[in-house]
Amino acid sequence: MDISQSTIAITGAAGGLGSAMAQRLAGQGAQLALIDLDKSALEPVRAACIDAGAGAALAYAANVTDEADTSGVFAAIAADFGALHGVVNNAGITRDALTVKFRDGECVSAMTLDQWQSVLDANLTGVFLCGREASRHMITLGCHGCVINISSISRAGNMGQINYSATKAGVEAMAVVWAREWARYGIRAASIAPGFIGTDMVRSMKPEALKKLSAMIPVQRMGEPDEIARAVAFIFENDYFNGRCLELDGGLRL
Ligand code: NAD
Repeated sequence: MDISQSTIAITGAAGGLGSAMAQRLAGQGAQLALIDLDKSALEPVRAACIDAGAGAALAYAANVTDEADTSGVFAAIAADFGALHGVVNNAGITRDALTVKFRDGECVSAMTLDQWQSVLDANLTGVFLCGREASRHMITLGCHGCVINISSISRAGNMGQINYSATKAGVEAMAVVWAREWARYGIRAASIAPGFIGTDMVRSMKPEALKKLSAMIPVQRMGEPDEIARAVAFIFENDYFNGRCLELDGGLRL
């Protein structure tokens, strides 16, 4: 896939990793459809993409958990650009808690159903809806390309993240399914499992936890958002990368 000739949609594009991906792909001349909950939060990213050399960059407000929003936004992208070659399913949230927490023999807290469900809605249902709607238009428009799901090192099962770990294992499996289902249409699918990357999501951890974490990573530091963005560009460009998960974690194993 030639990024300079491609229209690429990124969900969660206002966030740390999404904006880094958008700017990297913009620098390679892509036409970008930037999606997030809030259109005004996308404006600085859109402007940075134009500065970086994007063929075009448009911002779209949509909640990926909402079926009408996702079908509306991908229909609008198809109409505005007349093409769609790439999608990065990047929007995601965390609502961490132990499944059950005991102190002195007493259960003092438990993950709520709302904590469980909100993460499943954003990280799993959101990826399903965006993948379904995007592929519908890619196939109709006759566009070959690739869908990338952003998984996580936590897909292996991270303590305090039963909800998040389940979704991140799920989106890796979904990319395998899509690679098989969409090969006949010239569409690849893959996933990326970042380790700990220095975005707001990770920097919001307690400082002692962050220090301990960096010490556990073989390369002794967190990753940079652009290191993930470069992996996104690699997968888009390499037409033989399909149905697999690219692990980018500095060598850390949970
Ligand atoms: P972030 O919080 O900076 O950005 C996430 C973006 O997604 C935000 O702009 C948010 O508004 C958007 N979003 C959330 N829910 C949405 C919804 N329902 N509809 C539309 N947009 C929505 O987070 P980030 O660190 O940039 O993470 C991006 C992705 O990478 C996530 O899927 C995350 O799980 C994954 N990831 C991050 C790290 C890391 O270290 N930062 C590591 C592994 C995986």
